Amino acid sequence: MSNKDKGAADRRFATKLLHFGSEIDPHTGASSVPIVQASTFHHHDIFNPPGFDYSRSGNPTRAAVESAIALLEGGTRGFAFASGMAAISNAFLLLSAGDHVIVTEDVYGGTYRLLTLILTRMNIETTFVDMTDLDEVKSALKPNTAAVFMETPSNPTLKITDIAAVTGWAKEHGLLTMLDNTFMTPYHQRPLELGVDIVLHSATKFLGGHSDVLAGLAVTKDEEIGKRLYTLQNGLGAVLAPQECWLLMRGMKTLQARMEHSERSARKLAEWLDKRSDIVRVYYPGLAEHPGRAVHESQSLGYGAVVSFDVGSGERAKSVLSRVQLPLVAVSLGAVESILSYPAMMSHAAMPPEVRAQRGIGDGLLRYSVGLEDIDDLLDDLDQALRGE
Ligand SMILES: *Cc1c(COP(=O)(O)O)cnc(C)c1O
Repeated sequence: MSNKDKGAADRRFATKLLHFGSEIDPHTGASSVPIVQASTFHHHDIFNPPGFDYSRSGNPTRAAVESAIALLEGGTRGFAFASGMAAISNAFLLLSAGDHVIVTEDVYGGTYRLLTLILTRMNIETTFVDMTDLDEVKSALKPNTAAVFMETPSNPTLKITDIAAVTGWAKEHGLLTMLDNTFMTPYHQRPLELGVDIVLHSATKFLGGHSDVLAGLAVTKDEEIGKRLYTLQNGLGAVLAPQECWLLMRGMKTLQARMEHSERSARKLAEWLDKRSDIVRVYYPGLAEHPGRAVHESQSLGYGAVVSFDVGSGERAKSVLSRVQLPLVAVSLGAVESILSYPAMMSHAAMPPEVRAQRGIGDGLLRYSVGLEDIDDLLDDLDQALRGE
């Protein structure tokens, strides 16, 4: 690490977003990282191979975004993948046949699918637990348990896991700990500082931030785990392409500005929904009655920009979805434009209906990812959609 990089780690978050070490091209002084659109690299001197030799193994544009996310999360190594699921799959493949993993029960739908439909064939078994209950986590321990996978706040009911408590217990049992930090981003929550081994992101969401790039990131602190994850990244080859790396970096520069704005609006939306008598329930960690609020506040610097709420029935949810005029009605979240999702039919469609119901993901549940529009316009729009006139 150069002196310049050491300085970068000591600066405040907003500064790190712009000054992450490779923001200026050393060869030309260009104001953004060059897109090195090359699959391979010439060996000028066969006895001294170049720093990069083949783009699956390493690419300068990718290296820039990988060092940026490592800096932001407080890790030592970052890894960029073709999607969030590629990052999560690579992390799970640190496990071996016969291993058992303990996972947050209302985990992202794609992670649920990976575990239940794909990794089961590799003889990797999962116990889904209510991760908010440490006793339930502890009682899931088996002789072959190798890892714990957390997602907090969870998706879409925003349940909160006590990261340090679960991680501390996992360490006592030699378990690998992984955490999907997509909803919070390193601006609000830095799990490596709480002892987590691998932080994962769907960078498609807040980090990219513009609904125009699919990407995944992983960050490690421990050198050995970093090496093992690199072997998988290179070995499986689901790497992020140079153009996508550049787009992702472009988006990340404004992460703090976007998160601050969207969070302010999300708080307003949650409070506004909470006061309405026609809303069955509002899920947002910033609300006073949110069951995980105190734990969340102890480990995160903000509440995020995603608010889930139950409008009472599937019929009413569909009516709202067909009447809103401003948000995208779509899968995904964390963008400049607001996005309204219907978990039962979108992100959690892969989950059997009875499992969904058990986990509070009813037919009336909607998930609102608040973008950068004027919040008063968003509220007016949602109001007319809820009134259904
Ligand atoms: C979207 C998402 C993923 C999957 O990421 P992709 O980029 O779509 O592959 C994983 N976890 C969470 C919490 C997500 O929201």
